[in-house]
Amino acid sequence: MAQETIFSKILRKEIPADIVYEDDRVTAFRDIHPKAPTHVLIIPNYNIPTANDVSEKDEAVLGHLFIVAAKIAQAEGIAEDGYRLIVNCNKFGGQEVFHLHMHLIGGKPLGMMVV
Ligand code: AMP
Repeated sequence: MAQETIFSKILRKEIPADIVYEDDRVTAFRDIHPKAPTHVLIIPNYNIPTANDVSEKDEAVLGHLFIVAAKIAQAEGIAEDGYRLIVNCNKFGGQEVFHLHMHLIGGKPLGMMVV
């Protein structure tokens, strides 16, 4: 069983979040500490803890994350200029919340990825 996280509470509406999109498979809400004018997290409605835990059964929902990301980018008016999609994994990836999520970041030039 995947661990309970703060994102489970957001999904159950037990704590507030600025939800920008939701359907039966994924939910998207604004990051509480935005790194750019648009910083949205898109999460599956069930917990996959990390990218290491992805399996065949998750294929459709993970594809759907990308479709929803593109829709939100359009809605935010950042699609044409461009944006960055990030999934962090475990300690070296800088993952803090162990419910797989895609960061959608944009609204300003983000520069090159620095590692
Ligand atoms: P990561 O480092 O990839 O695990 O990213 C976790 C992200 O979740 C961080 O950017 C946090 O700012 C964000 N975050 C943590 N708690 C909340 C919350 N309650 N509502 C919205 N975003 C959150």
